[in-house]
Amino acid sequence: MGQMMNQPMLISSIIQHADRHFGRKEIVSRRVEGDIHRYTYRDCHKRARQMANALGNLGVAMGDRVATLAWNGYRHLELYYAISGSGAVIHTINPRLHPEQIAYIANHAEDTYVFFDLTFLHLVETLAAQCRSVKGYIAMTERSNMPAVSTIPNLMCYEDLIEASSDRYEWPTFDENSASTLCYTSGTTGNPKGVLYSHRSTILHAYASSMPDALNMSGREVVLPVVPMFHVNAWGFPYSAPLTGAKLVLPGPALDGGSLYELIEQEGVTFSAGVPTVWLGLLEHAGRGKLTFSSFRRIVIGGAACPPAMMKTYRQQYGVELVHTWGMTEMSPLGTVCTLQSHHLVLPQDEQQAILEKQGHVVYGVDMKIVDDAGSELPWDGTIRGNLYVRGPWVAKSYFKAENGEVLQDGWFPTGDVATIDPEGYMQITDRSKDVIKSGGEWIGSIELENVALAHPAVRLAACIGVFHPKWDERPLLVIVKKPGADVSKDELINSYKGRVASWWTPDDVVFVDSLPVGATGKILKNEIRNQLRDYKLPTT
Ligand code: AMP
Repeated sequence: MGQMMNQPMLISSIIQHADRHFGRKEIVSRRVEGDIHRYTYRDCHKRARQMANALGNLGVAMGDRVATLAWNGYRHLELYYAISGSGAVIHTINPRLHPEQIAYIANHAEDTYVFFDLTFLHLVETLAAQCRSVKGYIAMTERSNMPAVSTIPNLMCYEDLIEASSDRYEWPTFDENSASTLCYTSGTTGNPKGVLYSHRSTILHAYASSMPDALNMSGREVVLPVVPMFHVNAWGFPYSAPLTGAKLVLPGPALDGGSLYELIEQEGVTFSAGVPTVWLGLLEHAGRGKLTFSSFRRIVIGGAACPPAMMKTYRQQYGVELVHTWGMTEMSPLGTVCTLQSHHLVLPQDEQQAILEKQGHVVYGVDMKIVDDAGSELPWDGTIRGNLYVRGPWVAKSYFKAENGEVLQDGWFPTGDVATIDPEGYMQITDRSKDVIKSGGEWIGSIELENVALAHPAVRLAACIGVFHPKWDERPLLVIVKKPGADVSKDELINSYKGRVASWWTPDDVVFVDSLPVGATGKILKNEIRNQLRDYKLPTT
């Protein structure tokens, strides 16, 4: 056996490290109240220790689930460390889920306490009677903002708990495989499923995601995670920023283009991360005001495919590089990132761009393969599509309290995505398997069709779905939201596919709508669109 120290990898060690080495680095938060709060990693560590003592006084024990309903802010960050660091499990609830789903997951998780931002006061009032295991609720605010009357049982004030607690606290040592965090999938079909991360998986993910060809996190960056702390741990930013000493800027509830722009400029943000719809909002704001960015260089984009047209606009007009990533709740979330290798740098710009539009290469630690429906591995030739499977130390092997339901197939996690992988290992998602359009027995990739539509200057949002066809089973239908004041005809859009995709991939028809349904994590809900258009008939049928 090797003779090195067997020191467990625990989440508390990250905030201790940040305190000792980057103690004066700032954490800046836009609060629910609208004002800006700023303090340091050292302050955060101190208050996390106070909160850890408060949790102990409330009787929270090792392994207990403690829920949060909160935006990205400093108190939420303190809870990330106080709860997990003391051995309990932070259960980050997505407040955008349907209230019935929230009650379902709070009961399924057997949450003992719920911490919430005041934004969610009425939601908590509605839910409290249904949450059977919850012993108390803590409003994440100071005394002066506490509601005068409320129906919430055992309602406490966050700042009162902090004030009453000592900052003398020794972070406990325990098995690194202990559960640290619980996050439920968005559950667009059926009930949400709980993914239970461990201290070990979280730390390994934080290390790996910081690497230069991953998120390239460092002490020279000022990072703004727009991706919510209630959705897959804000892609690990609350861990990787203090691990590397990056200044952390937390946007609170204000995720519109104007508020983000203001924060980016005021705080000198260098890079940010979030889903495509957020970056569309920022782009529109910058375009309207003819604005430029002074410090902003990079956006890590994922959660849904990044439209190539948006990538080009950000680079050419604003000098901001969009880095395409792919992952999922079950993967903590990082799976792949798209960055170039040294030998790509001599390629013409359009060939580099074609690579950068893919979802990218795996981050070391994750292994992937594509398989056919019988489970046989398919070649990496960049054209053959297959079901994407992954494995790795930060990939889930089962769901919370569903340990007997076999999730893995021969030790691999089936992602539910359909992808190609090229000979250099660059993966490209063509579809969710349930969104694949099957025409005459052949697959048509809806993402590629959407990207062509999104390249038209009049198109704001695009979704491509399969609709019934008597001869071909399914044909692609394009559903479009136009930009305000812009116009484009059906024929013009359909003609724009000429020479861009195989002719039989060209959508059969276009439907113009005012908006597209968006789910709890900011993604366009195709099953909802299919539902809305279930009576739609193609012109030829
Ligand atoms: P979630 O667990 O809610 O984060 O959703 C994960 C799913 O989002 C993946 O399985 C993909 O279907 C989709 N997804 C994430 N990133 C991308 C991306 N860059 N391109 C296309 N789809 C993506």
